[in-house]
Amino acid sequence: MAHQILSTCTSCGECEPNCPVEAIHEGDTQYYIDEAACVDCNGFAPSPLCVKYCPLPGTIVKIES
Ligand code: SF4
Ligand code: SF4
Repeated sequence: MAHQILSTCTSCGECEPNCPVEAIHEGDTQYYIDEAACVDCNGFAPSPLCVKYCPLPGTIVKIES
């Protein structure tokens, strides 16, 4: 499992500093998550911190990896 950022991302940057494993990066058109690095915040928080801090609900989603 991992998380993915959808194209509704406005590149506000709120999620990036809140990822405990630095899996979020700024891309050319939007931010993106390194799926190999994302641990779904297991061991760090009760729920995904990127989802918690993103101001646009539904922009960061859980995916099968
Ligand atoms: S779910 Fe957690 S580990 Fe994965 S990208 Fe979001 S903040 Fe980082
Ligand atoms: S917090 Fe949400 S809108 Fe902002 S950069 Fe991250 S995914 Fe994009």
